[in-house]
Amino acid sequence: MVKFELKSLPYAYDALQPVISRRILELHHGKHHAGYVAGANAAAEKLEKARNGELEIDVKSILRDLSFNLNGHLLHELFWENMKAPEENNKPAGRVADAIDKNFGSFESFRKQFSAAAKSVEGSGWVVLVSYGMGNLYITQVEKHNVNHIVGCKPLLALDVWEHAYYLDYANDRGAFVDKWWGIVNWKDVERRL
Ligand code: MN
Repeated sequence: MVKFELKSLPYAYDALQPVISRRILELHHGKHHAGYVAGANAAAEKLEKARNGELEIDVKSILRDLSFNLNGHLLHELFWENMKAPEENNKPAGRVADAIDKNFGSFESFRKQFSAAAKSVEGSGWVVLVSYGMGNLYITQVEKHNVNHIVGCKPLLALDVWEHAYYLDYANDRGAFVDKWWGIVNWKDVERRL
């Protein structure tokens, strides 16, 4: 069976400062994301052993482990690629800007709704902009890594609002993290996925 792997970040650990500190990025990528990769591999291995008759498992619980850890892995890969070094007045252009205007009225009204979604995720989770069909965009909240997922939608832009994503820099002020995060969105990457 093919193993899931932790890729290196597409930039240095200090590249997103001051929005995300080197320390947070080192822990978030090297410990948390690595943990989901290991968890996804462990769940896949247990399922394989169970199929071969080498292990008895609680299928329901291992499948839950697999979706939690594998979605955690995939969401983090998306999240890393969705970011870049800070830029003032960072805004989408071209096709993404057009799609956002068409679906949300304007970038400002999109940003407002996406931020409100990020600030109101209960407990641990994500806000993900997804596309479906011919140009429909939706803002979704994903609880943990796997609850509220919509089948068949393509994720374009993800923001991690688990406490491990911001607590060392912002303590309990998730809102400040969300507001500053707009300066490091890599809109070219979002456009590539559209
Ligand atoms: Mn995370």
